[in-house]
Amino acid sequence: MKCKLIACLLLFICMGLWAQEATEKEKIIIGGDSDYCPYEFINDEGNPDGYNVELSQEIAKILGKEPVFRLSKWALAMERLDTSEIDVVQGMAFSVERAMKYHFSSAHAETWRTFFYRKDSNISRESDIMNKSVVIQQGDIAGEYLKKIGFHGTLNEVPNQEIALKLLSKGDFDVSLLNYTITMYIIRQENIKGIRNLPNRIYQRDYCFASKDPQLISEIDRALQILRQNGTLAALQNKWFVSEQMEPKLDSAQTIVPVFMVILLAFAFVLVLFWHKSVRNNTKTLGKLAMLEKNLQQQEKELNQWKEEFSRGPVVLYKCRVRPPKMLFISENVSNWGFSAEELTSTNASFLDIVFSEDKEKVKQHCQNLQPGKESAIYYRVLGQNGELCWVMDVCRIITSPEEEESCRYGYLIDVSEQKKLEARYLEAKEKAEAANIAKSHFLANMSHEIRTPLNGITGFLQVLTHMDASPEQREIYNLMHSSSRNLLKIINDILDFSKIESGKMELIESEFNLHYIIDDIIKQFSHQNKREHLVMNHQIDERIPDVMKGDQLRLKQILINLMQNAVKFTHQGKIEIGAELYTYSESDVRILFRVLDTGIGINPEKQKDIFDNYTQADSSITSKYGGTGLGLAIVKRLVELMHGFIWVESQPNKGSCFFFILPFRQYNEIDVPEPEISAEVVYHDKSLTGKILLAEDEPINQMVTRRQLETWGLQVEVVPNGLEALNATKQNDYDIILMDIQMPVMDGITATQKIRDLEVALQKHTPIVAFTAAALVGDRERFLAAGMDAYIAKPIDVEELYQILGSLLIADKK
Ligand code: ADP
Repeated sequence: MKCKLIACLLLFICMGLWAQEATEKEKIIIGGDSDYCPYEFINDEGNPDGYNVELSQEIAKILGKEPVFRLSKWALAMERLDTSEIDVVQGMAFSVERAMKYHFSSAHAETWRTFFYRKDSNISRESDIMNKSVVIQQGDIAGEYLKKIGFHGTLNEVPNQEIALKLLSKGDFDVSLLNYTITMYIIRQENIKGIRNLPNRIYQRDYCFASKDPQLISEIDRALQILRQNGTLAALQNKWFVSEQMEPKLDSAQTIVPVFMVILLAFAFVLVLFWHKSVRNNTKTLGKLAMLEKNLQQQEKELNQWKEEFSRGPVVLYKCRVRPPKMLFISENVSNWGFSAEELTSTNASFLDIVFSEDKEKVKQHCQNLQPGKESAIYYRVLGQNGELCWVMDVCRIITSPEEEESCRYGYLIDVSEQKKLEARYLEAKEKAEAANIAKSHFLANMSHEIRTPLNGITGFLQVLTHMDASPEQREIYNLMHSSSRNLLKIINDILDFSKIESGKMELIESEFNLHYIIDDIIKQFSHQNKREHLVMNHQIDERIPDVMKGDQLRLKQILINLMQNAVKFTHQGKIEIGAELYTYSESDVRILFRVLDTGIGINPEKQKDIFDNYTQADSSITSKYGGTGLGLAIVKRLVELMHGFIWVESQPNKGSCFFFILPFRQYNEIDVPEPEISAEVVYHDKSLTGKILLAEDEPINQMVTRRQLETWGLQVEVVPNGLEALNATKQNDYDIILMDIQMPVMDGITATQKIRDLEVALQKHTPIVAFTAAALVGDRERFLAAGMDAYIAKPIDVEELYQILGSLLIADKK
């Protein structure tokens, strides 16, 4: 009994030791694809299965190792092999590139692709498939092969080989290029009939074990040798792979149809024909439906991903019923403003809940005016839960929602608070700039008077000096000083005019005028001032232009004079011409095409488009040679545009320039044709006048200068220092002309003029009064004429102009 007990104990110990040895067997970790039937896959019980798995188990047995399988996606298996998480991959197609990275065993199987086709299609060799419809697995190397052989039929890709095979068998496609072993396995498993394959072996590869460990590979090779010799390898292949010879057998079994079936089929031939057709259609439709469903699922997944992405971004999506404005959906990121999507879509909530109270009415109105299908945007404020106001841009559109069967607003909200802040800052800056501009205009208007008054003294005395006896050298200096003072005056005038236009203060004043007289006057004035031997000035006026038109004649003169000044400045010889042509004509309007042409230095083509910009001259050398500020044409362009016209230039360097502009004027319908303001009859050369002049002027220097000037023309002059004394003097004496300054102490020139005119009504007389002032901004002349004055001359006076005005008034008086 004791002996038995000891024997049992010993046996128990031995078994324990053996068991321990067994559990301590070295493990071999084997990797592979989890879905590569019949080679390797995870079966329905969740265990590794397939030809490779059984082969590995046999090998592990020979090597005395315990196999541990790690089947996964193929990419992961490769990654694990690289990081040595697994010892070996049990089935890898051999390639030269791979052999540079891994050690390969001898081949334990082979893989290749081949063409499968339905036996009813007339395909018997590879060249027959060239124009057929072929289906392959997405991204499979089969696509490359087809390209290589010059396939020109239709190529379709589906997610996997099984789908490709099924669609092929259903007749959706003619041919499929698939892995032979896998396809044969599916044919058998799914009992698919009527499929054949070509004998070609495309991309045939050895199928081997692969590892980074050369020792392990040589051990596997040894074990494979044993399995080959003892027939295990062949048995495994027979078990898992369908041999090539099986396929025809399968087909031939199908083709041997029992005789009674043939007779039956003959009877039901017509019936079967129809049935067959409808079944084919159904299977086709089913295949397509399956594909559509798959696509739909993919799209839905993508859509959800997008929605999720949006929910994290700055754009809040919403869907809202139109009436009442009930929120049906709002994306989670509405939490940016402290709201929760649930509370805003709850039964009692309204879309307007998030809108700031002051903007609710505006939003309501906007929603009511929305038109179906039309996109619209509105800005309003959202009052966040934390009490912060935030500007949003709401872009929405009314569409009929498929589930609701009613119109819904689909839209998105974007936080534009930062943009609004910038806008507010910009507006503030703009207002400040505008205020500064107005201040500048006022400053300039004041400065204008202050600058002109002393300048009048200077230019006046210079003119007097030029008429006094002097040595040739002195005379040259006086002339130079005089022309400099005139240039200074032009610059000041330009700057003042420009700032007036800039600040939008320039207004058009309409009156009737005769274009022929205006152009004639300008040409006469310029010819007189610029007598040059080789320079001719003339005009060409279209006879069809009406005698009288209505428009702003002062602005028109200013434009023509500016262009003429440039023409004279830049032309040394040849001709200068003003042209006016009837451009269009209607009952109410006339458009005139003007041109100011010269044969001067011309303008470089690249510079032509810039010369109308502020302070731009065609060439930097122009300033040094000809002077100027570059403001003249900028003023001209603005004036033309103010008068609803446009201007352009055509010019050739060294040949000349022609400035064109088109201006609209109104037709004058009255019968009276007004006389020209100033008669052109004044004789410029004979500088002598007779008459008695009253000069009302407070500035002693100006009094002296003007008195001297008037006396040199032979006029009798009486001077008074203010408006009141002028009024008193007219009560006692008769004067041929009164020259009236505007800004004077005691009584200003306008009040004095009005009082003189009141007095004259009773006496039935009219003494011409000339505004004689440094207030020379645009619009001043009209103001003075409206106060009862007859003419206007700006200080510093242009002697020619003064002579012309006095001359014409004295002539008119004599008449
Ligand atoms: P500026 O006071 O300098 O003459 P403008 O604005 O009147 O300023 O003219 C700008 C520039 O255009 C001039 O400097 C000159 O280069 C060019 N220009 C204008 N008119 C003519 C012309 N008739 N012939 C040649 N160049 C001209």
